[in-house]
Amino acid sequence: MPYDYDDQNIFAKILRGEIPNTTVLETEHTLAFEDIAPEAPVHTLVIPKGAYVCFDHFAADASDAEIVDFNRAIAEVCRIKQVVPGDGQGGYRMVANSGENGVQDVPHMHVHILGGRHMGRMIPRSS
Ligand code: AMP
Repeated sequence: MPYDYDDQNIFAKILRGEIPNTTVLETEHTLAFEDIAPEAPVHTLVIPKGAYVCFDHFAADASDAEIVDFNRAIAEVCRIKQVVPGDGQGGYRMVANSGENGVQDVPHMHVHILGGRHMGRMIPRSS
């Protein structure tokens, strides 16, 4: 499956240091930073440093080291942002919008970590 990565997307520019971000965590293969338009008290984005368009691209083509690093970074972000459910911190929602129907605006693979309040239903019931 060919994935056409656009290196002018805004997260690619963040990774190149061309535009600023509020970094929460940086590891060898992963960057986590605050969403510029937060939809919850905690809204942090976690992105791989590699050029992956969406989650399935990352899962298919990233190295084991990148995938492990990314997942461990998510857990660390949850600890940093104090939303780990087992610690009585209320929990979080993890979202990876992918493609048109997933309503992905930025075509660089990313996961949203949302928390700090009850997140409500994942998908509103249709009337
Ligand atoms: P998505 O719709 O899943 O592609 O989400 C893209 C997210 O990126 C949105 O929640 C935006 O608010 C966020 N975003 C866009 N530009 C920036 C930026 N420069 N810094 C941080 N977050 C951003």
